[in-house]
Parts: sequence; structure tokens; C-alpha cells
Amino acid sequence: MSIIRILPEKVANKIAAGEVVERPASVAKELVENSLDAGAREVEVHVESGGKRLIRVADDGCGMTRDDTLLAFERHATSKIKSAEDLDEISTLGFRGEALPSIAAVSRLDLETRHASEAVGTRLEISGGTLRNVKDAVRPCGTKVEVQNLFFNTPARRKFLRSESTELGHIASMVTHYALAHPDKSFHLTSVTNEILKASPVGSHRERLYQVMGSQMLEQLVEFGPVERPLPKFGSPDLEPDAEDAASPPVFTIFGFASRPEVHKLNRNQIYFFVNRRLIRDRLVLHALTEAYRNILPAGVFPVALIFLDLPSSEVDVNVHPSKAEVRFRNGSFVHDLVRDSVLQALMAARPVAAFPLPKQAPAAETREAHPGGQNLESYHQRQPGTSRPAQAGGFHLSAPRPDPATSYLPLAEAVLSAYAPPPPESWSVPCSTATTSEPQTGELPTDLQPLGQIQSSFIVATNAEGLWIIDQHVAHERVLFERHLRLRQDSKLEGQRLLLPIVVDLGPEQRVTYQNVAGELAANGFEVEPFGQGSIAVQAAPADIRADHVEKLVREILESLAQESRGLSLDELRRRIAASVACHAAIKINMPLDQEKMGWLLLELSKTDCPMTCPHGRPVVLRYDMKEIQKAFKRI
Ligand code: ADP
Ligand code: MG
Repeated sequence: MSIIRILPEKVANKIAAGEVVERPASVAKELVENSLDAGAREVEVHVESGGKRLIRVADDGCGMTRDDTLLAFERHATSKIKSAEDLDEISTLGFRGEALPSIAAVSRLDLETRHASEAVGTRLEISGGTLRNVKDAVRPCGTKVEVQNLFFNTPARRKFLRSESTELGHIASMVTHYALAHPDKSFHLTSVTNEILKASPVGSHRERLYQVMGSQMLEQLVEFGPVERPLPKFGSPDLEPDAEDAASPPVFTIFGFASRPEVHKLNRNQIYFFVNRRLIRDRLVLHALTEAYRNILPAGVFPVALIFLDLPSSEVDVNVHPSKAEVRFRNGSFVHDLVRDSVLQALMAARPVAAFPLPKQAPAAETREAHPGGQNLESYHQRQPGTSRPAQAGGFHLSAPRPDPATSYLPLAEAVLSAYAPPPPESWSVPCSTATTSEPQTGELPTDLQPLGQIQSSFIVATNAEGLWIIDQHVAHERVLFERHLRLRQDSKLEGQRLLLPIVVDLGPEQRVTYQNVAGELAANGFEVEPFGQGSIAVQAAPADIRADHVEKLVREILESLAQESRGLSLDELRRRIAASVACHAAIKINMPLDQEKMGWLLLELSKTDCPMTCPHGRPVVLRYDMKEIQKAFKRI
């Protein structure tokens, strides 16, 4: 007896659903893509409970006839391709004919639609893949799909869904990127309590960006293109030579926005890359972007970028990923270089001289690694001639006034250093606002340190009987403030300071969702924030110690560091991240002269902290040069 059998269609659909429908946002994505493919000019998305209870997508697209409506739920039913050859030139967002039957297999789905050729529309109800009802519907042309109780019949899947706000965040991000790709269309996203995105049609991508992300985002960006580039003949080795001669070469068009050099993001979440208006992930393009920013951004920080690449559909294979999130380019290296060069050119043209405080004596060899960056500590570390990352350099050298390699360097054993300077984490050069509050290195700082002075107004030099100590003043203060802030938060004693004028911060749709999620915790941390028009918040009060001109950046950093993957954080970690960001912005900076009294105060306060040796982000605060090592190096013992 045969043991192999063809699975019933319902089972096959459930299996396909496993690939296509990962979470509410993937349902919303497929439905929005169908609306766009149907030529809709208006797309309305409404969700309840982060899409777990309801996702409704309504459009004014072409709609479907009754026959097509029934066919659409068959497996591999699509109007978008007819033959295998069509797969080589896909110009629609969908083509697999899998989304509707897959979604219908794992939810209760109602669809209403009308095509212009029919006077009466169709309403169809499906539950767990079983057709329950088909009837007439009086409605305008277009389609409305309601997906309720997603995964009601696949409890294992349902269990894996994240919190409602996480799921809503993913949906907001998805609708936002389609809105950015189609400025001529109207997008509207609502939840039960909020209007998350409302974008009416506008004339340009620039206007759409302003509408969706606000003016502050736009100010951070440089616009480039459109640039049209024909594919060079030699760039296409896999084409038949004569076929190539016959046709004119394919033309690639690139345009978009790239952030100014002073904009440093903590992750890649704000890098959007659209190929023929489809948002995709692509390593090649990320690499091209990294190349463009190579000497402009420090390692470990990321730009904001929106890159639109339009190219003939025969130049790109979109059939390489079940949810169509990746593509394969026929001429990858051409695309790579086009992206890199376009972004680089835009950055060069817009490079503001004043934003780059150059090192006093930048050694020539340093230019690739140590970029003149913003004002933060990391770029300072990187800028300082000869003081590359201490632990990485495998030993620290104290140099004598007259450099004579034979006699004037005092190599200090790594063991001595490492006790006090844990090796920098991978994210060494991530700005101090990065919220990876890694486990601190414990150790005690003596209370009898005598400050001698500062090196370059940035590092305090101190001594006691044990030897010589060098303390990074910014991270030392950060540690002090971090612990104090956390303590006050735990005792509910944090109070904000009212700002003279409220500071308005524009939020993107996804950030709005994050904000709603953490608004209570922000309030408990001394922020007083109110909604301000569509998509913005007004900060009325901020934690004491924060200068007014830091407030916007601080709020933005907190929301960014909590976005997406980190939304499922424990309350404890959430508080630590907020405290770390606040401490970073409130702490004294480098390049700040301190008098004896202030240095003494800082060292004493640092010695009282629980973890004086590491800053809240895991970087070393203190280096110690043991007296014995100093004596040994001078050959006195
Ligand atoms: P695909 O988009 O890959 O073709 P789907 O399962 O998403 O597969 O949809 C099947 C078919 O149903 C589509 O090819 C299209 O003809 C039709 N369809 C789906 N959604 C809509 C819509 N909103 N408006 C008009 N037609 C639609
Ligand atoms: Mg589809």
C-alpha cells in the first residue's frame, strides 16, 4: 500500500500560510500590495489589537468580478502572470497567487469587491479555508478585505505573536514604507484609538517624506537624483552579445535621500531601499551604502537612507523569497556602484565644512579609520593621534616629551590594564546613547585619588600610592548620573524640569507606536510630553540636568533604541536604557576644562558608584598604571 499521498488543498494552504503569513504585518503587507497592484489610489488600513483581532484593508482599485473573486482563493490563482516566461519580467508586487488562500486558511476572512463591469458586487466569507457564504454586495468599485482572528486555528502560531504594540509597530512600518514609495496615492492607517498615519496624495517624494516623517527628518537628509544610467555593454556578461546589440541597453534610474554626515543612528532600521517601489533587504546595497559613508561615519553607527531604484523588470528577479523581501539583480555590481556613487556624490555636494571639527594634528595614515565625526566621545577617541583604542592596541604607551622609541616608551603590561579597562565591546564606537546596557565590570575605585590635571581637557589624571590613574571624565560622570537616575526612578522621586518653551519632536508612524507604548515610563522619568498635532509631540519638561538643546535628540534616541526588536523589553531593561540615555546627555562632555574642585568631586562621586569601572554602555571609565609597573619600566626594580 502506498504511504505517500497528495495532501488535501486545505492542508497545503495551511502549510503555505506558514511561509507567507508570519504575523499580522505580513497579512497587511499582502493585502496592501494587492490593493496597489489593483491600481488603487486610496488605501485604508484599520487594525484592532495589533492586527490580531482585525486587519481591514480597503481600496478603490479595479476590484474583481464574481468569478474572479471565487478563483482568487484557489491556490496559485493569479491575474498577474500567465506563463513561466512572465516570471522573468514581473512588474507587479504580487505574482505567486498564494496570499489570499494562505491568509484565508488561518483566519476568518470576509471580502467585498466590485469590478466596474458588474453592477452588483460580491461578498464572500471564508473561515479557516472553508467557504461559508457568497452573496451580493452593493458597493463602489474596489475591494475591502477583513481578516479576523488571525491564527485562530493554528494556536501554536498564535502563541508566537508578540505584544499588540510590537505587531502594530510592524504594520505601521510597512504602511509607512509603501506610503513613501507612492507619494501620489493616499494612505490611511488607524487603530481603534489612534490615527497612526494619514497621507493624502502629494506631488513629490520630498513632500511625502515631510508628510510622513516630519520636517526634522527632512532637514537631516540630502536629496539626490534622479540620475539615469544605461547599463554599460560590458556590464552584462550573461547576455547573448547579439541580443544585446539589438536592444537598447536597460536604463537604471536612482534617486532618494541620504542623511547628512552628522546624523548617527544606532541601527539600520531607517535604511529603506526600494526596487521598482518594492521595499527589499539587500546586503549588496547595504554594503554600497557603507562604502559611501566609509570616511564619513564612525564604525558602528548608521545613516538614514531612502533609496529608490527603478529598473526594467527583466533586470531583477523578485522570485527568490517567499515574502518577496529579497531580490536578485542581474547586474549586481553595477547596482552596487550606482548606489555607492550616487550617495557619495550627494554627500560630497552637501558636506558642511563646519560640522567637521578636524583633529589638531591628524596623521595622514588615520584618515580611513579615524574619521572626523560629530562632537561625540567616540570620534574624539578616534581622532586622537596615537591613542587608538587602548585595549585593541594591545598595550598603552606613555610617551616622553622627546619621542625616541628606544628609551621613551613605557609599555604597560596588558594584565595591568585589563583589570581596570575591560576590552571595549564590539560596539566600541557606537555613540554613548546606544542602549545596550551591558553588564558592568565590577571593581572598586579608591577614595583617596588626588587629581593632578586633565589631558586635553578630557581625561583626568590622578594619583595615589597605588600609582597613576586616568579617568575619562565623560563616561565617569555618565556612570554617576546613570546610577543616580536609576535610584531616583526606583524610589519614584524623579522630577522633570519645565522647559522655557516646549520642544516639538516629529515622530514617524512607527515611533508614534513606540511612544504610546512607553509614554507612562517616560513620564515617570521626568518627561512631560503631550501630543502636538498629527505625528508630533511637545516636550514640556525633561529630566533636570538636560539642556534644552539636547531634549529633542534625547527623546528621539530613546524612542529609536526601543523600536522594533526591543519593544518586548522587560521594564527593568527599559528603565536602564532610558537612564543610560539621560545620563549620556546630561554628563559633562570631553574637551571641557575642569577645576581641581570639580575633578575631586567627580572622582569621589565615581568611587561611590556600584560599578565605577565601566560606563552604562560597557566602556572602560578608568585606566590604572600600577606603581610597580612604572618603577619596573624605569628599571628601578
Ligand atoms: P497574487 O497577488 O500573487 O496574484 P493573491 O493571492 O494575493 O495573489 O491574489 C490573487 C488574485 O486576486 C490577484 O492576482 C488579483 O487578481 C486578485 N486580487 C487580490 N486582491 C485584490 C484587490 N484588492 N483588488 C483587485 N484584485 C485583487
Ligand atoms: Mg498578492
